[in-house]
This record gives sequence, structure tokens and C-alpha cells, in this order.
Amino acid sequence: MRIGQGYDIHRLVAERPLILGGIRIPYEKGLLGHSDADVLTHAIMDALLGAAALRDIGFYFPPEEERWKGADSILLLQQVVHLVGQEGWRIANVDSVVVAEQPKLKPHIPAMQARLAEAMQISPKQVGVKATTNEKLGPVGQGEAIAAFAVALLLEC
Ligand code: MG
Repeated sequence: MRIGQGYDIHRLVAERPLILGGIRIPYEKGLLGHSDADVLTHAIMDALLGAAALRDIGFYFPPEEERWKGADSILLLQQVVHLVGQEGWRIANVDSVVVAEQPKLKPHIPAMQARLAEAMQISPKQVGVKATTNEKLGPVGQGEAIAAFAVALLLEC
């Protein structure tokens, strides 16, 4: 088996949709980025790639490339799962935490688990999604950004 970790952070700005774990969350701000800036999905992708020692998302989906502009990160996650599968690995489980001062994510967590699980072709019971605040500390705590951490465990097919 192999373990991997992922981390990501994106700036919160006005006039962008907030998408976390493939779910559109009603909020006055959204995450800034070249793709849809789904910080949770990005952290999970890096955890999966890391576990298979397959570099990182910037290697496969460079932000300089026009074709990834506004990209649906769930589609990118599907590609990552495919890559990991080609290397002979299947996903045992993924766990993650989103660090956001606002909005309250609790009501959206089951939907995120379901969407992420579907993209990875695993059960929602294999996808941990947790939410916490940063206790008002630092840029995340001041509501300037949302960060996410993830780990993934892979098993030999
Ligand atoms: Mg990112």
C-alpha cells in the first residue's frame, strides 16, 4: 500500500462561484484560480498523485495552459484516478479537511462526499470530508482564503 498527502489554498474573492468537492455552495464570494479553484478537490488530487509518486497537479494541468481555464476540477480528479489506476493502484480511502472561516460547510458535506466518491468510483464511506475554521487566525481565519488538506491510501490492484 501507499500513502499520499495533498494541500492547497485559494484566495476568496467577490464574483466567483464557491465550489468545494464539486458542489456549488451559496456564498457571497468564491475561490480565485485558473480552473474552478476547487481547493478540496485539488488537495485530494495531489494526495492521490503523491501516493503513486506521480508528481503533482501542476505537472499534469499547468495553470499557464489556456485549456484548463475554468476547468471542472471533478473532471481533472477523474483523470487523476485513471492515471493512478494505470499504475496498478486502487483507492482504499481518502480523508480531507477544509479550513474555512465562512460559510458553514456542515450542511454540504454529505453532497461533497457523494460527488467526490462518484468521481473516484468508490463509496462515500471511503471519502472523509471534514470542515474546521482557523479560529480567526491568519489569512484563512480572516476570510481571505480557503485551504484544504487531504490524505489518500492506495492498495495494489
Ligand atoms: Mg489549486
